[in-house]
Amino acid sequence: MMMNRSLCDPNEIHYNANDSHLSNDPVALFLELVRSTNHQKTALQNKTMTQRLLDIQNLSFAYATSKSICNALNFKINDGDIACLLGPSGCGKTTVLRLIAGFERPLAGSIQVGGRELTSHRVFVEPEDRAIGYVFQDFALFPHLTITKNVAFGLRNMPSGAINERVAEMLELVGMTKYGSRYPHELSGGQRQRIALARALAPRPSLLLMDEPFSSLDIELREKLSTEVHELLKSQHTTALFVTHDQNEAFSIADTVSVMNDGAIEQTDTAYNLYHRPASRFVADFVGQGVLIAGRGMANRMIGTELGNMHAADDTSVAIESGEAYDVLLRPDDIQHDDDSPTTAMVIHKAFRGADILYTLRLDSGTHLLSLVPSHHNHELGQKIGIRTEIDHVVAFRAHVS
Ligand code: ADP
Ligand code: MG
Repeated sequence: MMMNRSLCDPNEIHYNANDSHLSNDPVALFLELVRSTNHQKTALQNKTMTQRLLDIQNLSFAYATSKSICNALNFKINDGDIACLLGPSGCGKTTVLRLIAGFERPLAGSIQVGGRELTSHRVFVEPEDRAIGYVFQDFALFPHLTITKNVAFGLRNMPSGAINERVAEMLELVGMTKYGSRYPHELSGGQRQRIALARALAPRPSLLLMDEPFSSLDIELREKLSTEVHELLKSQHTTALFVTHDQNEAFSIADTVSVMNDGAIEQTDTAYNLYHRPASRFVADFVGQGVLIAGRGMANRMIGTELGNMHAADDTSVAIESGEAYDVLLRPDDIQHDDDSPTTAMVIHKAFRGADILYTLRLDSGTHLLSLVPSHHNHELGQKIGIRTEIDHVVAFRAHVS
């Protein structure tokens, strides 16, 4: 776990959660928020460039009516990076965004953006003075303004020619050039989300926060838009944090993904490492598919399993002790179909995936495995097929003590 709970000092309670004057209306908040984005951005750019754009330290928060959402959370984003908080519904992703934006006041901890303290026991910068862009999950477009005016909203301090140019650029980016004179209710849900994104990006915020930004788009648009957004953020050197429960979305846009579980960050890493080198059972389970099979520790980091002896990767933190019980992670691509293998398993389920079929297999012992096999190897349910393991990097966790 990357979180350091021991750093949380109960004497450090500085804010009364009830004394916030902030409205919960996202439209009102957004109005406030974009008001001074442009001049704030300039102020930030004039500061000495820090490598770290966002720095959250020991952030603790609880809603008045619920249990703790986060407890001494630490989280950082480097300048220009696109970061993602990936976690299941209810784990606290939106709350963390709201704390960064200044819509909520923490119980303790600090938030800095671009070296400037926004939240701490000393200061609390109002949302509208934070130079932070926010794409709300529920769009929060202004219903009485046209699309053009919605996108132009945060650009009021610019000359009108520049505003028109920027709005046109943003509408083109999100594929909505033809819709400038419409009103939000005349758009589909996906189109509204694209406008919300265009509106938040238009003032070139120093930090862009996005709450499940592509969740309402169909898969094709989602991929196109996430690639475009990625390129746009990179070209403008905008640092962004988005949150999602969808790992494909996380992997398609983010430089680093932080997997969040119950308000705590369990691992911050590349998509490749989260999948192949998960640091915890939760990450192993939440990212990608796979099964855990039982094993027994042996000498020299070997683990004996019913599929043979495996060498636990040297770079995992788990010590392998002889005689101890372990669970070994097997991804579907670790189990290869091989007609010549003496080890066989019965097909008990198959999911056609186009190029591949994901087979659920059962060993004679009853252990279930997943195997990803090119789809021209089309086997029937109940058939026994030969398998062998091909694992580059064996990940093991100490078995739960019951
Ligand atoms: P996520 O975005 O990961 O789905 P949220 O940050 O929205 O999670 O919520 C985290 C937890 O806080 C959930 O259990 C949710 O029910 C609770 N929660 C969210 N907003 C409020 C609120 N305004 N008052 C009380 N509890 C809340
Ligand atoms: Mg949420």
